[in-house]
Amino acid sequence: MAKLNHHFSKLSGNYLFPEIEKRVADYRQKTPHCKLMDLGIGDITQPLPASAVAALAGAALEMGKQGAFRGYGPSEGYSFLREAIASVEYAGLEIDPSEIFISDGAQSDIANFQELFDIDNRIAIPDPTYPVYLDSNVIAGRTRALLKTGRHGGVTYLPCTEENEFKPQVPTIPIDLIYLCSPNNPTGTAMDRKLLKQWVDYAKENNAILLLDGAYSAFITDPDAPQSIFEIEGAREVAVEFRTFSKSAGFTGLRCSYTVVPKGLKIYDFGSIHSLHALWNRRHATKFNGVAYPIQRAAAALFTPQGQKEVKALVSSYLERARLFRQGLANLGYTVYGGQDSPYLWCKTPPKVSSWNFFDYLLQSHQIVSIPGSGFGHAGEGFIRFSAFADSSALGEALQRLKSG
Ligand SMILES: *Cc1c(COP(=O)(O)O)cnc(C)c1O
Repeated sequence: MAKLNHHFSKLSGNYLFPEIEKRVADYRQKTPHCKLMDLGIGDITQPLPASAVAALAGAALEMGKQGAFRGYGPSEGYSFLREAIASVEYAGLEIDPSEIFISDGAQSDIANFQELFDIDNRIAIPDPTYPVYLDSNVIAGRTRALLKTGRHGGVTYLPCTEENEFKPQVPTIPIDLIYLCSPNNPTGTAMDRKLLKQWVDYAKENNAILLLDGAYSAFITDPDAPQSIFEIEGAREVAVEFRTFSKSAGFTGLRCSYTVVPKGLKIYDFGSIHSLHALWNRRHATKFNGVAYPIQRAAAALFTPQGQKEVKALVSSYLERARLFRQGLANLGYTVYGGQDSPYLWCKTPPKVSSWNFFDYLLQSHQIVSIPGSGFGHAGEGFIRFSAFADSSALGEALQRLKSG
């Protein structure tokens, strides 16, 4: 008899997006002619950089030519892309191209990486958080029952609140695997050098491993916030970094990302020392057959001088939208965080108004769609997230509506 993986039943049904859709649909039905301003979406709205499009088209044509066409590529990615990433993104950081694994998304790599670890590892995740860190561990059976609070037993939550400036603090207990996200989705805040150094030191002391989601690294403007954890001394021995072209270059629909697993990263188990790089290589080669050649060409084109210019312009345009929207909200008296090192604004709800009630108010009084902070976790209550990936006209119109009360 076939039996289910019963750990699936422990997943907290992610009701967040379906619930938002339901409330928006109900409102539309009552008010058919309303024009909604969608600031909830975390998806990009601007087209691909021209360099990427040209490379994608060129590679597609190559695929139709005898002699130029390519079949299976290396599962860890073509060296032209790994070398471009190492020399541009990790310039001066001693990351070797062989330590960079090309993949089809940070989402899948983050979800899959936990497979390298024993089921008994203790995990910590930020609260609020992007959902994949927890859910992949739930499915694997690394967590205990779902509690009434919506939290999971067997997980250490790292609260990111106004009091600690949304910066996950090093725990006083030993944890084995720690998920960090900087700049953070949803709070929009980046971790500074000092805090990352504390985490690296903690990991060394506890033989722990840091899994850093750097999906928004390209958005960092604060000189105190490192773009990569590998800028921190000792990180090569304790950290893995996940990055993606999704948000910085508009690749959400193309799918291309990479994971950096340094060769110095060791795991001590069964009385011996193992290389995580070798394990991930093995896992990747077994379960993945590589990203499409034209897409890797498109990604590599982002590292040409012209491609770099286009990516910078794209990122700056989103950051400028975030800045203007944040300024506008602050002028209206709202307390707003984030938006300086990320495209997300983390806006405090008015006193005693819950995340969902504020969501409803914005929808019904101003036809603005946001995301309730409580949907990202316990500590997100009392906030809502706005995305500056929205069209500038939608952001401007949303501000006008809020201004006119
Ligand atoms: C969008 C996002 C991802 C997913 O990236 P893909 O490469 O598109 O899978 C991962 N982490 C965070 C924090 C994100 O916001």
